[in-house]
Amino acid sequence: MNGLVMTVLGPVDPAGLGAVDAHEHLFLHSAALPGEDFGSVDAMASEAETVRAGGIDTIVELTPVGLGRSVTGLASVSRRTGVHVVAATGYHRDAHYPAGHWVYREPAEVLEEVLLADLTSGIDERDWQGPTPVPSPHRAGIIKLGASYQRASASERLRLTVGASAARRTGAPVAVHCEVGTMAPELLDLLAADGVPAGRVLLAHLDRNPDPGLHAELAARGAYLLYDTVGRIKYRPDSVLLELIERMVAAGHGDKVLLGTDVGRRSQLRAYGGGPGMAVLGETFVPRLRSSVGDDATSAILRTNAWTALTWSMVAE
Ligand SMILES: [Zn+2]
Repeated sequence: MNGLVMTVLGPVDPAGLGAVDAHEHLFLHSAALPGEDFGSVDAMASEAETVRAGGIDTIVELTPVGLGRSVTGLASVSRRTGVHVVAATGYHRDAHYPAGHWVYREPAEVLEEVLLADLTSGIDERDWQGPTPVPSPHRAGIIKLGASYQRASASERLRLTVGASAARRTGAPVAVHCEVGTMAPELLDLLAADGVPAGRVLLAHLDRNPDPGLHAELAARGAYLLYDTVGRIKYRPDSVLLELIERMVAAGHGDKVLLGTDVGRRSQLRAYGGGPGMAVLGETFVPRLRSSVGDDATSAILRTNAWTALTWSMVAE
């Protein structure tokens, strides 16, 4: 796998990914988001079709273990639409797992075995919720981890260590959920202590805390800045995000920026009558970005940055 990207339909050459939306969900069920579940293959194929029509060729689907993943659904959406889908394994922050969930109970070795199975043989068709796993032929291509707002709990730290170990052993990249853009330096420190350098890490939701000085420091450490609330106006206007990207590009960190919309609720998907929909990235934001930072910087953000970030790479011991 070294030097390739793993999609649900198999390994691909990084350049074969085309333009990448680096944070979405096609199937999701979380106790933290009541009434916002989604994941019908028909609905999500139609949503993915709008993404493709907007000029995006690859979706990175960051739903981790136990939150409604459907790997057979992902494979169907990918086959039906021609959109590449990179599936995730890994564990989210505590808020998404109810008390008593097995992620709090199982020892580190078992938690890691789950990730390694998803990454190296195939994701369990029952998303590890059944009495026995049913391995699919579709492998995960990225490890998703997470921490709480301004802190990482003991159980989150354990899952970060487990995820780091799986990354070290496979060469898969790591995406970490930074709640409201917090904890990024601390998460890079924790992962580095477990042998995963910043250059293998995508920091999700950093645009919730659009602090150019902080982002420049994180990029200088080698981490990817995943701006994944494009079109989510309740957080701030997209103009703030455009200004932030302009500053990162001007500071020489344009090679570390990635984009996504992370419309992780039914009410945000057009397929369910909501908005803005996943296609807002390609349809609305990319043209504005092009006129703001130019074709080359835009192409890097959507293509080469994402290709490098998603490529499996064994870190030299
Ligand atoms: Zn997400």
